[in-house]
Amino acid sequence: MLNRRHFIIGSLALGGCGPAIVTKPSKRLAVTMDDFNIGFNVRLNPRERNERILAAFETHNHKAAGFVTGRFVDSMFGDEVVKSWSDAGHLIGNHSYSHMNSTEEAANLVTADILKNHAFLSRYNGYEKIFRFPYLAEGGSVEKVKIYRNFLRANGFQNGAVTIDTVDWYISSRLETRLKADKNADIEPYRDYYVKAVVTLAEHFQALAERIGQIDVPHSMLMHHNILNGLFLGDALSALKEAGWSLIDAKEVFAHPLYDLEPKTPTRSRSLLSVLAQEKGIEDTGYPEAYRNWGKKTMDALRL
Ligand SMILES: [Zn+2]
Repeated sequence: MLNRRHFIIGSLALGGCGPAIVTKPSKRLAVTMDDFNIGFNVRLNPRERNERILAAFETHNHKAAGFVTGRFVDSMFGDEVVKSWSDAGHLIGNHSYSHMNSTEEAANLVTADILKNHAFLSRYNGYEKIFRFPYLAEGGSVEKVKIYRNFLRANGFQNGAVTIDTVDWYISSRLETRLKADKNADIEPYRDYYVKAVVTLAEHFQALAERIGQIDVPHSMLMHHNILNGLFLGDALSALKEAGWSLIDAKEVFAHPLYDLEPKTPTRSRSLLSVLAQEKGIEDTGYPEAYRNWGKKTMDALRL
C-alpha cells in the first residue's frame, strides 16, 4: 500500500537471496481540537493563543479539525476565532451548542442542541456535518446510543470519533491553576510533561490499533483549544514528527471506514480503539499506567 513505509533490511550477513522487505505500519494522525473555550487570559491572551495554535499548524503544513461548541464562541471575538480556522482551511465540526452530556441529559434536548449548533456553524465555509459527543459520552445505554445513531444518520451527520486521547485538558487545567496562583510560574516542566504525554499516548494507541488488526488506521488525536496548546502545540507536533509520525488532513482521517464502525458498546469517554478491543476480547488497559485517572498521580509526584 502507498501509505506504508518499507524498510529494507540488509541480508548480506545472512548470505541470503536479496534484501528482505519488512513492512511497518505508517503512523499518521490529524489533530482534532475541541470546545474552543477561549476565556482563560493569563500569560497568553485568547487572541495570542489562537494565533499561536494556527501558526503551529501552518509551520507543520497541517489541516486539522476544530470541534466547536457554539456557546463558547457566540460573540464577536468567537466569530473571529472560528472564521480564522475556517479561512485557514481547517475543518469545522459540530460539538453541540451547549456541551451537554448526552448520557445524562434527555435525548430530545441533546439532539435539539446539536441542530442549534448546526444552524450556528453553517455560516462557516469549513463546516462539515461531523459531530463529536461532548465528554465522548455517546448515550450510555444501548437504547440511548441507538436513538443518537438514528438521529445522526437521519440528519446526515458522521460521528467524529477519537482514537488517540492526549489528556491535554487535564494537564491544561493544572497549568491554569498554577498560572492563576503565579502568572510568572516556570512553565517549562509542563511543556516537557505534555510533549512526552502526547508522544507516549500516540504510540500507545497505535500499538492498540495494531493489536486489533487496524494496522494502517489514520488517527484522530483529541486535543482542546486551551492555554497548554497555545503555548506548546508546536513543540508537541515537532516531537511527533521526530518520533516518526506524519500529520494528515483531518478530512482524510474521517473518510476512513474505521470511523463508520458502530460498536455495540457505548464509547463512554474512551478511544474508539479501546471499545473495539473490548468487543474483540483483547485485553486493554485504556491508558498506560502513568496516565490513568488523567495522570493525576504522576503530576502530583512531579509537583505540576
Ligand atoms: Zn468537549
